Amino acid sequence: MPELAFDCVIRGGRVATAVDDFVADVAIKDGVIAAIGRNLGQGGAELDAKDRLLLPGGIDAHAHIEQLSAAGIVNSDTFESATVSAAHGGTTTVICFAAQHRGMNLQTVVGDYLALAKKGAVIDYTFHMIIADPTEVTLKEHVPALVSQGHSTLKVFMTYDLLNVGDEKLLDILLAARQSRALVCVHAENHGMVSWMGKRLVEKGHTAPKYHTISHPRGCEAEAFNRLIAFAELLDQPIMIFHVSTAEGVAVIRQARGRGLKIFAETCPQYLFMTAKDLDKPGVEGAKWMCSPPPRTEADQEAIWQGLALGDLQVISSDHAPYAFDATGKLMAGHTATFKQIANGLPGIEARLPLLFDAMVSKGRLGLHKFVELTATAPAKIYNLHPRKGSIAIGADADIVIWDAKRQVTLADNLMHDGARYTPYAGRSVTGWPTTVLRRGEVIVRDGKLTAKPGSGAWLPRAGGAPAAPLGRLTADVDPVRNFGAKLI
Ligand SMILES: [Zn+2]
Repeated sequence: MPELAFDCVIRGGRVATAVDDFVADVAIKDGVIAAIGRNLGQGGAELDAKDRLLLPGGIDAHAHIEQLSAAGIVNSDTFESATVSAAHGGTTTVICFAAQHRGMNLQTVVGDYLALAKKGAVIDYTFHMIIADPTEVTLKEHVPALVSQGHSTLKVFMTYDLLNVGDEKLLDILLAARQSRALVCVHAENHGMVSWMGKRLVEKGHTAPKYHTISHPRGCEAEAFNRLIAFAELLDQPIMIFHVSTAEGVAVIRQARGRGLKIFAETCPQYLFMTAKDLDKPGVEGAKWMCSPPPRTEADQEAIWQGLALGDLQVISSDHAPYAFDATGKLMAGHTATFKQIANGLPGIEARLPLLFDAMVSKGRLGLHKFVELTATAPAKIYNLHPRKGSIAIGADADIVIWDAKRQVTLADNLMHDGARYTPYAGRSVTGWPTTVLRRGEVIVRDGKLTAKPGSGAWLPRAGGAPAAPLGRLTADVDPVRNFGAKLI
């Protein structure tokens, strides 16, 4: 019997990418897309996609998985539960974190997270390295070695008592990244404001989860963005600003990009679909909607949509950070906990794409191509996974999601597969659902049922590539030609 030309052919689907939209068969051989055309030859497996959309697998570029917090608790997911959840939601690649805490050896940390992922993941993965202890050995030895091994993004915090690195160390980290060509992702909020407001609210007895939103005053975002951008400009180092939540934050980014600076920015569904009012619930119930930065107002949602439309923000990630609503997670300090004692973070790795598909495709806001761009193609490009990931193209990994654009689903706690066992979007109805998911040509979810084995996901080593390259545009302060000859970077 002659060997079949293809391992699998997906027939007659409507293929949509960030730019194209056409009906075709898509053929897969050895895990990659081998042909796109009409009436392609027989495949070992055949999938009927008539009246269905074929979209590139989602890329979630910000997810906390099986991660140890600074407070010493591991979030409610394993790599298996988080990536199974991601797969059900149409996501086939995740960028998660290898989280260093103070006193930890970064190389050991990265090795430990790689081992956990290798054991459990059902989708492909790659890491951002959190730098919470920027010692000399971390920055001068471990970062360059790890970047050259394929860990080409660093993440830094400007807030949280046990994570924030302070201004001088932030400059050290930006410089270390520049020398290794790594992108630096930043959680940018003014630490003093958050800390001061938190203490003051609790002292005055305002301890319910809703006051968490007040404890991160909106100005703390724009202030930190401005400071961070000044640092990045001084050292000519590209940055990614994570989880933008306010209109003022969007404006700061727009202005900096308008000056030609290499600044990327992300937002998340919680800043498009939730407001601070979601936390206004009886008792500690509001903890289910607690994340940092907090959800803001409807006017902020509009400003963020506008930022996405204009390209000021390029990526929508989940910032998945699940804590179960019980004593193992959110309610570790009991039902009388103050908001300062409740773990921050929301599950969202599974709901991200259905929520955005509903808003952008079904309801029409920004449309199908922009949906693909913000959730797959742009993260692939910025994090240097393109052209292997992020589109449907010949030679790319066959990460393909078959969507039923008409299917209506009401989100519910028991529909989700992650370890939080609740969704902050329970009760919300969406139109459009990922039904069958292929990762490197293998069906990992078929008609809503998992068919992948734990550990079948692959690690994706990445160089920083063009997105992490400095502009080559030195400010006068660090340019020896203009600073009286001082060679500083
Ligand atoms: Zn995060």
